[in-house]
Amino acid sequence: MPELPEVETIVRQLRPKLIGQIIEKVDILRPQQWKQNNPAQVQAQLINKQITAVDRFAKFISMDFDDDGQLIIHLRMTGKLSWYDSEPRIDVYSRTVFYFKSGSVLIFSDTRALGRLTYFNCETRNLWKARIGVEPLSKEWNLKHFRELIRRSTLDAKSFLMDQKKVAGIGNIYANEILFRSHIHPLRKVNTLKPSEIRMLFKKISSVLRLAIDKMGTSLGDGKQNFRSLYNIEGEFQNMILVYNRTGDPCPGCGAPLQKLRQKQRSSFYCKLCQK
Ligand SMILES: [Zn+2]
Repeated sequence: MPELPEVETIVRQLRPKLIGQIIEKVDILRPQQWKQNNPAQVQAQLINKQITAVDRFAKFISMDFDDDGQLIIHLRMTGKLSWYDSEPRIDVYSRTVFYFKSGSVLIFSDTRALGRLTYFNCETRNLWKARIGVEPLSKEWNLKHFRELIRRSTLDAKSFLMDQKKVAGIGNIYANEILFRSHIHPLRKVNTLKPSEIRMLFKKISSVLRLAIDKMGTSLGDGKQNFRSLYNIEGEFQNMILVYNRTGDPCPGCGAPLQKLRQKQRSSFYCKLCQK
C-alpha cells in the first residue's frame, strides 16, 4: 500500500509532466471509484481545464485547475498512475484515463479498485484536509504540537503513528521502521513516553520518511501489487528495512531474533530487547 514516501515519489514525477497540460477528454471506466461525484458531470467539467499545480498531502495527490477546481486521488491499496507521452497501454485494470491536448495520457489503474478519485469545485477545495492530521514534512510539523498530541492520546505507539487524524501519511511499513529506530515498543502507551523518547520519535518520523523519499519508496510484495513509480520503476527503501516482515531474523541492533505481534489486524515487528 503506498504510504507518504511512495505518493511523494509519484507526485515529484507527475508535477513537471502535468503542470500546464490541458485536458482534452476523461474516460471514467469504473464510475464506482468516483464516489462523491457524478461521473458524467466530472467528465464534462474537466474538459479544457488546465492543470496549474500538483501536490501531495499525507497519502493524497491533488491537482489544481485554472478555475480553482481540484482533483484528489487516493491510491489506497493498489492504485497506480502511469504516464504516456503517446500510445497509452490501456488494460482491464485501467479505471480512469486522462487524455491531454498535448497527446500525453495519464492512466489511473487499480487491480482491486479500492482507490478513490474526487473532484472539488472552487468552494469545496481543501476542505477534505480538515479531517486529516498534521503532515510530518510540512511547516505545521513541530515538536511542541507533537508533544501535545502525545500527551492527549491514550493510544499505543504503533496505533498512534498509523492514526491518520494524528500524524498523516504513515502506514504499516514505516510505522514499524520508525518505532524500531526510536527504540520504542509498538505496544507502549504514548502518554508514558519520556521527553527524550518523544524527541527521538519526532525526529525519526521525518528522517525515515525523508530517507524513504530519497530512495523513491518501498517496493515489497509480488508482481502486480508491488509499488512502482510513474515510469514503472520500483523503489529502493526495501533494501533499508530493518524489521518489517523480518520475524526471526537477528535484530540489526543486538542480534536477538525479531518478534511479531498482531495489532489491530496488522502485523508489528520489533525487537523485545531494543524497544521499550
Ligand atoms: Zn535488538
